Amino acid sequence: MYEQVRQFNEQLEQRVQQRTSELNKAYHNLEQLDKTKSDFIDVAAHELRTPLTLVKGYTQMIETQMPSEIAPQMQEYLKSILTNTDRLHAIVNGMLEVAKIDNQVLDMHPHDVAISDVVNEVHTEFTLSLPERNLTLNFDSLDNLPTIQADPNLLFEVFYHLITNAIKYTPDGGSITVTGSALKDAELGDAVEVSVRDTGIGIDPEHQELIFEKFYQTGDIALHSSGLTKFKGGGPGLGLAIAKGVVTAHGGKIWVESDGSDEDKCPGSTFYVRLPLKPNKISKDAKDNTV
Ligand code: ADP
Repeated sequence: MYEQVRQFNEQLEQRVQQRTSELNKAYHNLEQLDKTKSDFIDVAAHELRTPLTLVKGYTQMIETQMPSEIAPQMQEYLKSILTNTDRLHAIVNGMLEVAKIDNQVLDMHPHDVAISDVVNEVHTEFTLSLPERNLTLNFDSLDNLPTIQADPNLLFEVFYHLITNAIKYTPDGGSITVTGSALKDAELGDAVEVSVRDTGIGIDPEHQELIFEKFYQTGDIALHSSGLTKFKGGGPGLGLAIAKGVVTAHGGKIWVESDGSDEDKCPGSTFYVRLPLKPNKISKDAKDNTV
């Protein structure tokens, strides 16, 4: 009996060891695959940037140097080429940012930042599209928040992507509210929390973690409209991956809460960003990762 138990234990141990080694190998392969994907994104973005810059440069030259020779219809075409090259530029920049996050070479220059300044700057980007879609953007308790040590340009990206998404996934006539509060977090210590709440279509629980992965999108992408701020406007699926990478690099947390997805009832979504006032991690990462 004793010998049987001993043998069984030995076999069990061997099987556990074998499975662990298989799991490690699979994990290593996945890591390699993800690295290959990041490298591809990086190379593709660099390759796309040069021709795009040329297309934009020559179009601008035609537009500014020969305005009297261009028929009004042609001027419309040129405007459209410029708008769309700008959009492509934004996508390429997003790809480069995601590759930097993956390779941990994010360019960070932290100093004292007022969240309200960052959010106001983001607001100016949408002064035309908000009335166009009959959406309201409200701010609540942002002015009294303590300043935090952060990189303002990177924080701009976080709130730019969150507010762009809130606009994209909220039907016309809805509202978006950005609220701030100061609090003590068990892990982060003194922190600020900023939430972006919308009255949009909402997100199913099974997608709520996955949407922060690069290229992950919910629903049928073929049904997405074109245009950055149109209802369900198409995007490359990088916005939340960038937001998460930036927040994590600042030693913070990001998550979403929503009662599920329903295009008729519109339960809405609330994205939370919690950032430490003086993160220990940031000074280390900024030193290690600045390129
Ligand atoms: P993109 O918007 O370019 O598709 P993101 O990374 O910004 O990529 O978002 C990933 C996915 O998360 C979106 O495709 C969408 O399905 C979902 N999502 C993000 N924000 C919201 C929101 N406020 N309401 C509903 N769904 C959202």
